[in-house]
Amino acid sequence: MLATETTTIVKNAYEVALENFDLAANALDLDNNVRAMIKYPERELKVSVPVRMDSGKIVRFEGYRVQHSTQRGPAKGGIRFHPNVTIDEVRALATWMTWKCAVVNIPYGGGKGGVTCNPKQMSQTELERLTRRYASSILPIIGPEKDIPAPDVYTTPQIMAWIMDTYSMNKGYPVTGVVTGKPVDLGGSLGRNEATGRGVFYTIRSSCRNLAIPLEGARTVVQGFGNAGSIAATLMCQAGAKVIAVSDTRGCIFNPRGLDIPAVVVFKNRTGSVVGFPGSEKITPEELIAMECEVLIPAALENSITAENAHTVRARIVAEAANGPVTPEADRVFDQNAIFLIPDILCNAGGVTVSYFEWVQDENHLFWDENDVNAKLEKIMVRSFNDVFNIHVDRKVNMRLAANMLGVGRVAEAAKVRGLYP
Ligand code: NAD
Repeated sequence: MLATETTTIVKNAYEVALENFDLAANALDLDNNVRAMIKYPERELKVSVPVRMDSGKIVRFEGYRVQHSTQRGPAKGGIRFHPNVTIDEVRALATWMTWKCAVVNIPYGGGKGGVTCNPKQMSQTELERLTRRYASSILPIIGPEKDIPAPDVYTTPQIMAWIMDTYSMNKGYPVTGVVTGKPVDLGGSLGRNEATGRGVFYTIRSSCRNLAIPLEGARTVVQGFGNAGSIAATLMCQAGAKVIAVSDTRGCIFNPRGLDIPAVVVFKNRTGSVVGFPGSEKITPEELIAMECEVLIPAALENSITAENAHTVRARIVAEAANGPVTPEADRVFDQNAIFLIPDILCNAGGVTVSYFEWVQDENHLFWDENDVNAKLEKIMVRSFNDVFNIHVDRKVNMRLAANMLGVGRVAEAAKVRGLYP
């Protein structure tokens, strides 16, 4: 059973994205003309992806690419392969990318893509054919100067390599800058794989400093032990925090003395799940969300903390490593309960920041060492956290609204100075 199956999905993610835009636009007193220019996706593409399966049968999948904004630069955003992908989910994720890139002040707009499929039930060869066919279908609208995809849920550096290869075969020359999150052997950046979790960690560290919560010994709970969640958990451990519970689609594990996270990573790589990790106790998804702790990191999918379970949360800080895990209703419960939220468009922006570094390196054919990447990432994450935190304090608004005000405000300024073609 999925860990969030017991919670009701109250709103689709795109409705949430639109609601958060309106809140920010109202707080900024944004002109209606500017709202009309920046609120909705600029371009949406729906494609049919027929794939020959290993059995010889052809199965048709549906795929999407949405470019929400190119006001501040090319569209940028990941590709998700998941059974629950819908056009509205892709729209929401594309919209969040726009504000996220503006929050960390990198020269991109926002985009997102996805294919409704279950990669866990496909062989590597089927996955490669699906990826190449999808890449061919979206090829006319992507490119290093137009729209640059990256990995998201259930898409990997290998999948990015296949997209880069498909695009390059069509162009007739290698174009490494068409996707980020590639393997390092193919123009990928050192530090990209860890970047999202690393950024999550930097924002938690800044929050702890501002709230006078010691990182040393901070009890930490992670929902979704994938790329973002496992790296954030690893860095929290390295900083002296105690990760007491983690989960994945198969279940949740708990150890009040703290889990040995590097060993959990090895165990999950070997067995495919965290469940059954020696010395841990199995708990329910509801117990995990309600665990008393200093830091709760939702790092799985959207809508995992809703009006239904928000009141059970007993964390002091909720760090949104995932995109959209906390609904607006849950935000209001957090405000009432004085729970400090690090919003997704700030918290998980480390991934797109190092994707930006990767693109810069590809376009310049000059590569940086890992220390350089991490130092530049830390500088951007700390600065962005401070920018959002200052709005939170000065304007007396919660962190979600502060981040949206910063992101929406920057995109609005870009739109105003560009103007409209008559
Ligand atoms: P991933 O596929 O590596 O990991 C997702 C993990 O969540 C898996 O371990 C899966 O088992 C677990 N999971 C899924 N549904 C769950 C559920 N219902 N309960 C508990 N666990 C569940 O994906 P990822 O790249 O780590 O992405 C996770 C989230 O972070 C997504 O919302 C994604 O959009 C966001 N994000 C990722 C990046 C990145 O660079 N990887 C960047 C920004 C945001």
